[in-house]
Amino acid sequence: MIHNFNAGPSILPQVVFEEASQAILNFNNTGLSILEIGHRTPLFEEVLNEAVALVKELMQLDDHKEVLFLHGGASTQFFQLPMNYLSKDKRAAYLDAGVWGTKAIKEAKRFGQVDVVASSKDKNYAYIPKDYAVPHEAVYFHYTTNNTIEGTQMHSIPNLSMPLVADMSSDILSRVMDFNRFAFIYAGAQKNIGAAGVNLVVIDKKFLDKSSSTIPSMMDYKQHVSNGSMLNTPPVFAIYVCLLTLRWLKKIGGVSAIEKINLEKSSLLYNTLEANPIFHLPVPKEDRSHMNAVFTMPNEALEKKFNAVCEEANMVGIKGHRSVGGFRVSMYNALPLSSVEALVALIKDFSNKHA
Ligand SMILES: *Cc1c(COP(=O)(O)O)cnc(C)c1O
Repeated sequence: MIHNFNAGPSILPQVVFEEASQAILNFNNTGLSILEIGHRTPLFEEVLNEAVALVKELMQLDDHKEVLFLHGGASTQFFQLPMNYLSKDKRAAYLDAGVWGTKAIKEAKRFGQVDVVASSKDKNYAYIPKDYAVPHEAVYFHYTTNNTIEGTQMHSIPNLSMPLVADMSSDILSRVMDFNRFAFIYAGAQKNIGAAGVNLVVIDKKFLDKSSSTIPSMMDYKQHVSNGSMLNTPPVFAIYVCLLTLRWLKKIGGVSAIEKINLEKSSLLYNTLEANPIFHLPVPKEDRSHMNAVFTMPNEALEKKFNAVCEEANMVGIKGHRSVGGFRVSMYNALPLSSVEALVALIKDFSNKHA
């Protein structure tokens, strides 16, 4: 058995792999593969409609929200969003709390003025900046809810007057949140919602009204909304995998049920790491992510040894991002508690031998 701690693309529920495989061979007993059906057929319309409805239900979205499935991954939203809302005389505020946020800032600067209201770059993004002021004229405030690479997470929604925009790529649908407080949410699918190749976007209708209509059609949110995510051929298979994952999440009890399991997994791991001082946790307790846990060891020789032990035990994907080093254990929705239990046993054993 393999324990998959990959940071993304990452583990999905086993039932999703099985159903997706079946749909490639024979989709809904049509005798056709999901890969060969037209996107403007009732067959695919049903897939898309159900996926949108499940997103609305699981996120408890109000009637003012539109749900889109778009191409290009979260990185496309880094520029599509400012392309729609910024210009030379318009400014947006950004929180710089990690590598992904920094990339979003870089792209926004191409289109308008950007106020970086705070940054945790001074400590290699190992914490979430807390005290900052946001200029009132900002057309939106952008932040990353979970910093996938650095293992930090914002545990409350900032209380601000301007429209809130969030990159939720690595923690969407992992915890209960008032998603209706956001004007714009985006998330690449490959961490918690499905397969790579599609991007979930939730946009408030009032915010949508203010988007640009003078940009290329494929960048224009209004056109995507009025065409129901079918301005061109959507990523059919990736959306289908999202649908299967969303069905799975609903079946196990939705966001509040998965939140409990996610908390159980992350507490078990963090408590074990804290109890074994050979492991160092760079992120202060209040900012630790429930999705990605980052830790290091006193020297490279020990890290190499621990890595070898993990590989031996069929644990994949725990090597830290090159910008942080050490280890990163990703515990997305589909990762079973048993995988964290197996890792924890290994951590204890390693500690006993090397402390
Ligand atoms: C993975 C990730 C991205 C990049 O997603 P792509 O789909 O590869 O563009 C952006 N932001 C966050 C927070 C991520 O975790």
